Parts: sequence; C-alpha cells; structure tokens
Amino acid sequence: MNTKLTPITQDSLTEASALIQSGQLVAFPTETVYGLGGSALDAQAVLNIFRAKERPVDNPLIVHIASRDQAFPLCRWTDLADTLASAFWPGPLTLLLRRTEMVPDVVTAGLSTVALRLPAHQGALAFLRACALPVAAPSANRSGRPSPTTAQHVMEDMDGRIPLILDGGASGVGLESTVLDLSGEVPTVLRPGAVTPEQITMVAGSCEVASSVMRPLEVGERALSPGMRHRHYAPQGRLTLVEGEPEAVAEAIIGLHDAQPEARILAMHDHIPLYDNRPVNDLGQDAADAAHRLFYLLRSFDAQGVPRIFSETLPPTGLGLAVMNRLARAAEFDIIKV
Ligand code: AMP
Ligand code: MG
Repeated sequence: MNTKLTPITQDSLTEASALIQSGQLVAFPTETVYGLGGSALDAQAVLNIFRAKERPVDNPLIVHIASRDQAFPLCRWTDLADTLASAFWPGPLTLLLRRTEMVPDVVTAGLSTVALRLPAHQGALAFLRACALPVAAPSANRSGRPSPTTAQHVMEDMDGRIPLILDGGASGVGLESTVLDLSGEVPTVLRPGAVTPEQITMVAGSCEVASSVMRPLEVGERALSPGMRHRHYAPQGRLTLVEGEPEAVAEAIIGLHDAQPEARILAMHDHIPLYDNRPVNDLGQDAADAAHRLFYLLRSFDAQGVPRIFSETLPPTGLGLAVMNRLARAAEFDIIKV
C-alpha cells in the first residue's frame, strides 16, 4: 500500500472522510499526539487499527468526537461528565463512561466502559466533522514505541500500512490525554496527562489517582487501564532515571556517563551548567516543555541508534506527573535514588 502524507485541505479532508466511511484508516494530528483513526462503528475497521499498530487486542481505544452530541448514543452520559466536558472539552481529557450497545466490543476490548474525547485541535476537529461519525483512534505509533508527535514520526511507523496521513505540524502537548474513569464513586485518573488531577478536583470536587500510575503492575494484578500492562513509550536504548537533589543527580549521571560516553543525558534547562560541557539534551524550563519534547527526543535517539540514556526526573505534580508516568514506563522503572 502507498502511504500519502498531505497537509489538511478541503480536498484531503474529502479524501480522508471517504476512506474512514469505507472502513479504511487515516492518521490525523491532535493537540496531544497523532492518532490512527478508523470508524468506531465498524468492527472490521477497528480490527485494522490493531493490525496496523501490532497492538494487543486487549488494549482498548479512545473514541474521538467533534461535538458533545456525538457522545450521547455511545454511553450513559452523566451530570458529572457534563460538568467536566464543559470545563475541559475540547481538550486533552478522555472520559470513561458506561457504554451502550452501539459501540463494538473490539473498541473497548470487551470492557463495560467506553473512552471518549473531544480534541482541541482545528485539524482534528475538521477531520472529525468531515467524517461525520465517531472515530476510534489510539496513538499512531507501532505498539511499544514512543507516541508520534509529528506526521514524519507517523510515516516512520506506518509507511505502507495505511493509505493517508494528515499533516498538522507538531503536536502542542506532546503526551497522550488524561484518562479519567467516571464509572465509579470518585473520578479516578488512570493515565495522567495535560489535564491534571489538581484541575479536575477544582471542577469535580474530588479526584483520585490510580496507584498504578507511578509503579509497575504486580504479577497477576488486574490493570484498571489495560494499556498500563504493556511495555510502553520505550526507546530502543536502555533508559535509567536518577532522582534526588539536582547537584547530586548531575554528579551521579556524570559518573555513569563518563563510564559510558556513548550514552545521552536528558536534563532540565537550568541544570545544564551542572554537567560541565558534557553534551546534554535539554528537556526545557518546565514540565510543559518536557512533555512537548520527551517523545521527540526519545525518537531522535532511536534514529541515531543511541544504546544508553540517563535522565533527570521531575517533581510528580501538575503536568510533571504525566511526564514522570511516561519516563518511568520508558525506563521500565529503572530509577536510581541519590
Ligand atoms: P492510546 O490511544 O494509545 O493513548 O491508548 C488509549 C488508552 O486508553 C489505552 O491504553 C487504555 O489504557 C485507555 N482506555 C481506553 N478505553 C479504556 C477503558 N474502557 N477502560 C480503561 N482504559 C481505557
Ligand atoms: Mg498509545
């Protein structure tokens, strides 16, 4: 199959919607990462998504919609969902709600809830409106790789596997959406993202964070969010995190790096002078910069065949929690405390 990469125009949107309506796949930009979309109402199209990504079929997909009305036939909408949607949609918040019969089993991996999101990206919204149906879309990477934040990343992973990639430039947020479970008593974050537990608490009155967000699953433990079970976000080179006071962290990383000079270092901008002219990859000034750059940097290391990476950690508050959730999983929880 030939994979076409095209900017978002009236013509490419017409082509994209025809593909989606005939059960084929289209990759599209969102503010979080690029998505690999297929009709959420067509089980065969959804199976094609799993095949193109080589994704385990027990890992459910997020259904993307262009308006709140599109959510109503797919789930049991609640007052709390309405409050949260008013506060955070369009935006990087995915809501888990009891699903209806209309959603094929493959979309939810047989679970009783469906994940819904209305993205804050003009290109994504134009695409979803043109399709005129809900679009199931996981991140457009091959399973296990860092999520794509540019159309070129999607091309690296999907060339020859899908007919069309819509290019909307680099994703702003750079990390996947917050997944918030509304099916229980208290809203619970299963995957942290740019909408933070602190923000959700302000609107919903309460918010819990699943304990599995910052630790590996135990043997035999049932994952609340099936995605947490799988090796994720991982670069090809082995990644180790070093946690502690900035000076002590830099000293430890310098020691590790001097023993393995082929390794790369990820550090926050203000800490770079602590590394005495060693080559450091800049995570930026704050958690938002780090979120925006993380997958891009991990993919660039893969492209250069980097075998070993050492990274600083961030405080796990606000958006820092999302960055640390991805970093810790990419490192398979190899974290040195100094
Ligand atoms: P991705 O689109 O690659 O960001 O993956 C979507 C993620 O949303 C999956 O890894 C799941 O962990 C989560 N998810 C989607 N639907 C559900 C659901 N019904 N219950 C729990 N988690 C879900
Ligand atoms: Mg993904």
